[in-house]
Amino acid sequence: MTVWNLGSINADHVYALPHIPGPGETLAARSLTTGLGGKGANMSVACARAGGNIRHIGAVGPEGGWMVERLRSYGVDTGAIVTLDSPSGHAIIAVDDAAENMIIVYPGTNRQVPITHIDTQLAGARAGDLFLTQNETNHQVEAARSARIRGLRVAYAAAPFEAGAVRAILPFADLLVLNEVEAEQLRKATGQGPGSLGVADVIVTLGPEGCLWLRNHEEARFPSVRVTAVDTTGAGDTFTGYLLAGLDAGQAMPAAIDLATRAAALKVTRHGAADAIPARYEAEAFQE
Ligand code: ATP
Repeated sequence: MTVWNLGSINADHVYALPHIPGPGETLAARSLTTGLGGKGANMSVACARAGGNIRHIGAVGPEGGWMVERLRSYGVDTGAIVTLDSPSGHAIIAVDDAAENMIIVYPGTNRQVPITHIDTQLAGARAGDLFLTQNETNHQVEAARSARIRGLRVAYAAAPFEAGAVRAILPFADLLVLNEVEAEQLRKATGQGPGSLGVADVIVTLGPEGCLWLRNHEEARFPSVRVTAVDTTGAGDTFTGYLLAGLDAGQAMPAAIDLATRAAALKVTRHGAADAIPARYEAEAFQE
């Protein structure tokens, strides 16, 4: 089967600085590293690295060709990524000597994916395929509805959290993946616990504490692998991409969670976003 991911694609520009500049200050950076990021791209890479059949639906600008190439090099089907005539999504990330950071995100083409393009793509999906989305593009709600109508199972990573978007997608979601902070925001926004929203499967990730799987008002807890974390960027995205690959391959939830947990733990031992996501053979071999 196929996982269809309507998701963001960002260039992450990471500048190393002696300190985070204040208002009006000009400061020379010591170094610049540019990598592939964006929650959508990270999840697609994770799914592909896990061995999943993943088609990314999204948009880049004229200078974004390298990001499409990078996605392809990791095994993502990039045939549904369009090139538009405006700047790609990117993040300007300043990191100082104390590892404090400051981030500016420019959504760019991520928020300009044409609905006609999304519809045309989903028309090629088969019932039983998986549809995945997050909150960094546009048209998530329409796309989730359309995917549901076509018989796809809808997975939704409610990040970055936006109460309105989350409420609108929930009726179409079969699987919801949240971190602890988002679960609390959802509780405040809906007055309900994540297990009482009518979504069949809910996963709440708990960082180094692992995750919870909520289904039919029952709860199962899965521990994380203990590691020394150096960079947690993309941990949740690695987890979700691996999870979807497992489910799409017909694995039961506990087995899919097990490999996702190992892949995410391995990711946090490495610096970077999409480019630091481990391959399946590494995740399989990884344990405490
Ligand atoms: P991020 O925003 O950093 O991508 P997140 O906040 O969405 O992550 P987390 O709950 O922090 O998500 O992490 C997702 C999963 O990654 C966890 O369920 C766990 O399996 C793994 N993980 C995260 N941090 C650690 C850690 N320090 N040690 C081991 N595993 C971790």
